[in-house]
Amino acid sequence: MSYKFTIALLPGDGIGPEVIQEAVKVLRVLENNLGLDLTLNEVPVGGAAYEAEGHPLPENTLKTAQSADAVLLGAVGGPKWEKIDFSLRPERALLGLRSSLKLYANLRPARIFPALVDASSLKRELVENLDILVVRELTGGIYFGEPRGVETLPDGSRKGFNTLVYAEDEIKRIARIAFDVARKRNKKVMSVDKANVLEVTGLWREVVTELHVEYPDVALDHMYVDNCAMQLVRAPKQFDVIVTTNMFGDILSDEASMLTGSIGMLPSASVGGDTGMYEPIHGSAPDIAGKGLANPLATILSVGMMFKYSFDREEVDTKIESAVESVLDQGFRTRDIMQEGMTEVSTTEMGDRVIAELEK
Ligand code: NAD
Repeated sequence: MSYKFTIALLPGDGIGPEVIQEAVKVLRVLENNLGLDLTLNEVPVGGAAYEAEGHPLPENTLKTAQSADAVLLGAVGGPKWEKIDFSLRPERALLGLRSSLKLYANLRPARIFPALVDASSLKRELVENLDILVVRELTGGIYFGEPRGVETLPDGSRKGFNTLVYAEDEIKRIARIAFDVARKRNKKVMSVDKANVLEVTGLWREVVTELHVEYPDVALDHMYVDNCAMQLVRAPKQFDVIVTTNMFGDILSDEASMLTGSIGMLPSASVGGDTGMYEPIHGSAPDIAGKGLANPLATILSVGMMFKYSFDREEVDTKIESAVESVLDQGFRTRDIMQEGMTEVSTTEMGDRVIAELEK
């Protein structure tokens, strides 16, 4: 098994650099403790890259990402760049990275840490031990389908349209990812569609069902998206892996992640091509940037996902999750997850606490 990995570090904007700095500390400790050989190549992305090089995704950044074994991204965007041309906005870098790295699957775990159960908006008994993984198709569906646009009709009124389209192979490859990850979890896949109304998601249901023949050890069920949205807040623990289209996944993964209480705790992985990309689900949080208030745990947990999904070292992910769990159990909290009686710590102190656990 290889122990040599090259990671492209894309800190980005706002709190991005602050949380990436803590993740780098964790990577260096893992490198020492586990005898890894890590090459970390830091390059600008988003607003920072626009300032430095006039483009949110400069050629060198893309090349560095493409040639790495995995990419770790902080966050991009901020009020400073809201007025510039759409094609040069920091957020465009994300689309560029996803399409050029062929990241067609977005994995978003919604896992609740025991110490944070009361931060959820749902009752304790509904979310205790919650552990869901939403697998969202990321490069197809209605967000990319053609034709699209807004037209003016002969009578002067306007008509807007988008196209929801999925080819069989696009459905098959995302379903395969869902079945494969379910095999490493509780072996249950819920495929979410709107097959009662949309023909294309009828095809989705058929293709997922056909592929299921190859995974007899995994249970497959189907659910309409409106019911799934309801079930996620009624009885979320019924789910293990949810697989769905780009737009449904966009909405359901936000809903599922919020069951855990804090945006600063949630990692994500985008996979499919040769190089996976890992990032916290939160944005650049300009309101708290530079104040030492950012929660670095989502980014640190994203490092765990990188080891699990890109480097096939699941035990490192488990180690990181346990370290985070212990720090939370000891009562340390950044402000976003602060509770009465706990000890508030800064971004760097939180990173140090995780490291101290990893060193044990
Ligand atoms: P946001 O996620 O940046 O912030 C939402 C709220 O959550 C803010 O109050 C923020 O302070 C808080 N928050 C977020 N992450 C936190 C953390 N780690 N620790 C503590 N608190 C945290 O979303 P927004 O305010 O809607 O967007 C801000 C900018 O980020 C925008 O420019 C947006 O386009 C961009 N954005 C980028 C990404 C990305 O890079 N993947 C994702 C979403 C938004």
